[in-house]
Amino acid sequence: MATNRTFTMIKPDAVEKNYIGGILDKINAAGFRIVAMKYTKLSKVEAGAFYEVHSERPFYRELVDYMSNGPIVAAILEKENAVEDFRTLIGATNPAEAAEGTIRKLYAESISANAVHGSDSDDNAAIEGNFFFSSLERF
Ligand code: GDP
Repeated sequence: MATNRTFTMIKPDAVEKNYIGGILDKINAAGFRIVAMKYTKLSKVEAGAFYEVHSERPFYRELVDYMSNGPIVAAILEKENAVEDFRTLIGATNPAEAAEGTIRKLYAESISANAVHGSDSDDNAAIEGNFFFSSLERF
C-alpha cells in the first residue's frame, strides 16, 4: 500500500550552486508537504551506507565521494502517490534525458551530479527517511 511519503536529498552540486530555494519552490508548487527536513553533510561511511544497494555498480566509489563532498538537504515529503509523482517531478537520472521542466532538466549538470535524489519505492522511502530522521523530527 502506498504510504504517500517519499524521501529526497538536494545533492552537493545543487547546494553549492545555490539551487536549494529553486528546488524547494518546485517541490512546494507540485503539492508536496514537508514532513521533515535538515541541512547536513554525509561522511564517506554514511554515504557508503546510504548507497549500499549500489555497492556492486561500477560508479559506487564515485557516487560515495560525490555525495560526501559537501552539504546536502534531506527531507521527507508527503503527497498522494508521493514516490511516483516525485520521480516524475525530478525526471530521468541522466539530465540529458530528463523531460522539460523537471528538476534535473533545470538544475542537474550530469548523470552523477544530478541535483536531487528521489526514492524509487515506498519501502525505500521509509528506509531512507529512517536513515536521517527520528520520529521526533517529523511533523
Ligand atoms: P536515480 O534513482 O534516478 O537516482 O538513479 P539510480 O538509482 O540508478 O542511481 C543512483 C545515483 O547514482 C544517481 O542519482 C546518480 O547520482 C548516480 N549514478 C547513476 N548512474 C551513474 C553513472 O552511470 N555514473 C555515475 N558516476 N553516477 C551514476
